[in-house]
Amino acid sequence: MSCLKASIPQIDNTLQELIGAVENAPSLGAMMLAAWRLARLLAVRLVEGELAKRAQRPTEWPHCERCGKKLKSKGFEGRQLTGLIGVVRWERRVGRCPGGCEIGQVAPLDTELGLQPNQRTSGGLKRAACALAVFVPFEIATVLLKLLTETAVSSGAVWTWVQEAGQASMDRLKQQLEALQDGQEPGEEEVEAAVAALPLLVGADGVMVPFRPNGGKPNGRTVWREVKVAVLARLSQRITRTGKQASQLVQRRLVAVLGSIDDLSPRLWLEARRQGILSAEIVVWLCDGGRGFWRLFRERFEKHAQGILDFYHAAQNLWKGAKVWLDGRTKRSRQWFAQARRKLRRGKANEVLADLQAALALDGLPDSARKTLQNLYDYLDTHRDHIDYARFKALGLPIGSGLVESACKWLIQQRFKGVGMRWSEDGFNHLLHLRLDWVNGRFDDLFAFAASPNC
Ligand SMILES: [Zn+2]
Repeated sequence: MSCLKASIPQIDNTLQELIGAVENAPSLGAMMLAAWRLARLLAVRLVEGELAKRAQRPTEWPHCERCGKKLKSKGFEGRQLTGLIGVVRWERRVGRCPGGCEIGQVAPLDTELGLQPNQRTSGGLKRAACALAVFVPFEIATVLLKLLTETAVSSGAVWTWVQEAGQASMDRLKQQLEALQDGQEPGEEEVEAAVAALPLLVGADGVMVPFRPNGGKPNGRTVWREVKVAVLARLSQRITRTGKQASQLVQRRLVAVLGSIDDLSPRLWLEARRQGILSAEIVVWLCDGGRGFWRLFRERFEKHAQGILDFYHAAQNLWKGAKVWLDGRTKRSRQWFAQARRKLRRGKANEVLADLQAALALDGLPDSARKTLQNLYDYLDTHRDHIDYARFKALGLPIGSGLVESACKWLIQQRFKGVGMRWSEDGFNHLLHLRLDWVNGRFDDLFAFAASPNC
């Protein structure tokens, strides 16, 4: 150890001071912090030393892309890059076209090192900052980044990186949707055989998000817009601490769009194909009464999935019907509701429908009550195949869409609905797509363009 300590100042004299900070640290915490700073600086010096060495090697000058003449050296120029280890500075040869073509300066060493022209930040730092921004506001992301890496970046820089990566994500999705449209099959995501044997659950919900009015200008009243969110997951069972069996979602994938059901439709189908909707043994579509989502079910999923209407939503509608029909006779409406709910739960939907038909045939039924009852009848009749709750229970399938709804709400609520938050459409979309890539396990691919994404 003392040998290592003695050799460090030979690399760089200024490191002596940091060695002193380690030696004089009053507490273990201070000692570790000082040693870490030393290690980071040492890493920077090592990289800079290596870069200086490589910069001295003879340069293979490429030819001008305009006129074909061999580029000529203009001597050394400085460059720097900020990465997770800190700021690295070096000098390397730059060249220009001897014919005077306006191709700017060319630095062959930069290209060799996998740097983009004008790149000032490493892919690894951008990736870390974007990952933080997926969960916390931009300002907090910069604070956490500083705390964890000692690298200072502005929240504006994090915002810019999120826009870039989010746009890359949206472009990638657009390509995948176009490929699907052209008949190219998306590959199924690989999962363990035990997971592939579980029922595939599909559900969707709408979640409201606050937007700025007037094309993103900050003043004016908040505009609330609905984001359509869908979840696909395998339904697994776990034993709770109290020994009860409870459902849980595994291999969870989310799809979301700021747009209509028709915008959601191809996105959800693309993900459904990846999650094995054509090969899963049991596929369940679980949703509450939102009409647009059931239209999507009929258009895309009916052939492949058992639809289940959220039981609590169905019961809520029964109660609404009972209240209007038996107005003023509270006790009777409660009794009828309790009985109808029980029948529905036990798979006797036909009896409930017969009861409603009998009620509709009564003389002297007020128009408003008739309308409500007719609506209730039509609603249950439309969903006749989706309310066979006794059978669903026997198959071990859930009859409430709570799991689906909380997964959908979480995606939006946790990040987009903080106090005082209001979004521009672009800002929202970019971050939404990054967040989706994160939860769907496709985040790292977005940063793979950087030659060394880990630093
Ligand atoms: Zn030229």
